[in-house]
Amino acid sequence: MLELYKWHLGLAVPENAIREVKAVAVTDCLFCRIVNKEIPAAIVYEDDSFMVINDINPAAPVHLLIIPRIHIASLNEAGVEDTEILGKLQLLAAQMADVAGIAGQGYRLVNNIGEWGGQTIRHLHYHLLGGKQLGWPPE
Ligand code: AMP
Ligand code: ZN
Repeated sequence: MLELYKWHLGLAVPENAIREVKAVAVTDCLFCRIVNKEIPAAIVYEDDSFMVINDINPAAPVHLLIIPRIHIASLNEAGVEDTEILGKLQLLAAQMADVAGIAGQGYRLVNNIGEWGGQTIRHLHYHLLGGKQLGWPPE
């Protein structure tokens, strides 16, 4: 079977090994330090799996960052074992939009990946942007 198909079926993922590495907070990671409350942030919501904070440099009237507590560097490093957290993240984003009062008019959920994607912090996070008409395409 091709490696790609194995990956999709979850057959090629050494789950325990990966989970162990991801469970350890990365000490020089800004978002690990924020979710561990070593560095203050404007916390909007938190639970066992996520922290939601206000972006320090907002690009829209509502600009939240939805951050899984677990350290995953980017979507490129996510695996089958992260399926649940990624699904929950999207549902949490919709709930946050509702609470922020922007669900009805619409909003955007953005994930920057790597250098060309504009990712500056190597800890997976999604931007929830709204409260104004957003332009498309970006840039
Ligand atoms: P990205 O460029 O997609 O990696 O997004 C990183 C985001 O984190 C940017 O929008 C920054 O403004 C934001 N940011 C950086 N430092 C902080 C901080 N200490 N608290 C809140 N947001 C931050
Ligand atoms: Zn981290």
